[in-house]
Amino acid sequence: MDHFVPQDLNIPPDGSPLDPETQQRVKAFRRQLGAQGWLAPTWQKVYGGGGLSPAFARIIEEEMRRLVLPSMGDNTRWIPAVMTWGTDEQKLRYVPCALRGETITWQAFNEPGSGSDLASIRTQAVADGNDYLISGDKAFITGRFDPDYLWTLAVTDPDRPPRLNLGLFMVDASLPGISIKTQRLLAGSERRVSLENVRVPADCLVGLPYQGWEIAQTILEEERGGHGFRTEEDGTVSSVLEYLRQERGSP
Ligand SMILES: Cc1cc2nc3c(=O)[nH]c(=O)nc-3n(C[C@H](O)[C@H](O)[C@H](O)COP(=O)(O)OP(=O)(O)OC[C@H]3O[C@@H](n4cnc5c(N)ncnc54)[C@H](O)[C@@H]3O)c2cc1C
Repeated sequence: MDHFVPQDLNIPPDGSPLDPETQQRVKAFRRQLGAQGWLAPTWQKVYGGGGLSPAFARIIEEEMRRLVLPSMGDNTRWIPAVMTWGTDEQKLRYVPCALRGETITWQAFNEPGSGSDLASIRTQAVADGNDYLISGDKAFITGRFDPDYLWTLAVTDPDRPPRLNLGLFMVDASLPGISIKTQRLLAGSERRVSLENVRVPADCLVGLPYQGWEIAQTILEEERGGHGFRTEEDGTVSSVLEYLRQERGSP
């Protein structure tokens, strides 16, 4: 696999967005992996997976770990949510292209002033015929690659009680009214997204118009460590040990 792997990539160590050329090179490699189903080896082929056994998946995982690359997957926590709550048509619209490495999706939940208290978000999605008009600001959004989709939480009915008033939308990031800025942090940077009267078709709402909180919670439970399964050491512990050995001369 090594001769396909892009070499000498410019990867900022602080997690900042990648420059356009690096994005293009990594995305091209990602698409090559995705075309073989290697980004989701055990998933069904119809959804962009490889249809492979867990043993094959393990070999691919081990090989991938040897490569010096920025995080290859974008945020994929939305995928189980869409598979659970989405219509069959939505599953086929959003999932295979992501698992084939063709699209990047950001999770755009957090807002200025609505972090821990996520239910207080102010982004509004106002029904307008067969569409919604979405307006609001999202902050501290992670994305090393520019997005194709924004997985976005918005208030669908301000008169309903908190948590029962939110919808989850898969928004095409190229739509008019969306602007994205880079937010410098003390270490690295994140993104700030502004949505101004963004017209989206109603069929990009996943689940019911008031089910967004329930769906978001299933994702956040997994994201914030509620799953409790064993994960692989990703090299962090061994690199800290190596550093200590070199700096301190400890065995
Ligand atoms: C590096 C980075 C990447 C991120 N990526 C994403 C992303 O991709 N998508 C996305 O949607 N969001 C993202 N976020 C946002 C993240 O989800 C929020 O930062 C997080 O939810 C906390 O919100 P906050 O920063 O506004 O902190 P605050 O909510 O202001 O909390 C600040 C402190 O106050 C404490 N606190 C808050 N409320 C209470 C309370 N009622 N009682 C006691 N203590 C309280 C908190 O525990 C915390 O210690 C990212 C943030 C960072 C830093």
